Amino acid sequence: MARYTGAVCRLCRREGMKLFLKGAKCFSDKCPIENRNFAPGQHGKDRKAKIVGYGLQLREKQKAKRIYFTNEGQFRNYYEKAARAKGVTGEVLLQQLERRLDNVVYRLGFAASRRQSRQVVRHGHIQVNGRKVDIPSYQVKAGDEIAVREPSRKLPGILAAVEYSSHQPTPNWLEIDRENLKGRVTAIPKREDVNLPVNEQLIVELYSK
Ligand code: SF4
Repeated sequence: MARYTGAVCRLCRREGMKLFLKGAKCFSDKCPIENRNFAPGQHGKDRKAKIVGYGLQLREKQKAKRIYFTNEGQFRNYYEKAARAKGVTGEVLLQQLERRLDNVVYRLGFAASRRQSRQVVRHGHIQVNGRKVDIPSYQVKAGDEIAVREPSRKLPGILAAVEYSSHQPTPNWLEIDRENLKGRVTAIPKREDVNLPVNEQLIVELYSK
C-alpha cells in the first residue's frame, strides 16, 4: 500500500486526538485539533456514532500506524513478527515500532516529528555505531550509538529540533549527548516507556481474527 502523502493534520482529526505529526505546530494554538476537533470531510461534524467492536480495533490500529508513519504492509509484518516472538504480542509490537531508527532519532530530539525524522534518516544524515544508515525502519538494539553525521551537524532543521527538544524529558531507555549530537540506546524499551495513547491489545485482537 502506498504511503500517505496528504495533509497529516487530517489524520489527527480522523482519530480525534493529537498524534504529534508536525513538530512545533502540534504544541501551538495553530493545531487544528484545538479548534476543529471533528472528523475531516463534508460530513465530519455529523459523525457522532459511538465506535465499538471491530471499529474500535480498527481505529486503534490506524492510530498506531499513523503515529509511527508506517504503511499497512509494514505494520502487519511487525504484528506477525511479534506474534511469533516470545513475550506479550502487543508489547513486542510496540517495542519493534519504538526501535525503528526514525523513531529513535525523533526520541533523541534530532528531528521535530517522526515524519521529519524519517526524512533525516532517508537523506543520510544519521549514523549507527559509526556507519551511515539511511533505512528508517532499521531496528536499533541495546548498546547502539546513534549520531548525526559530521557533514550534517550544522543543518538548521536538525539544530532547531535539538534546541526545541532540550526542554523535553529524555526517554528512560536512551541517553542523549546534545552537544555532540549523539545518543545511545541503553535498553530495549518497556511498555511503560512507550507513553502513547494506544491500546495494543485491541490491535492484537484485530489481527488475530
Ligand atoms: Fe496533529 Fe500536530 Fe496537526 Fe495538531 S498540528 S493536528 S497534533 S499533526
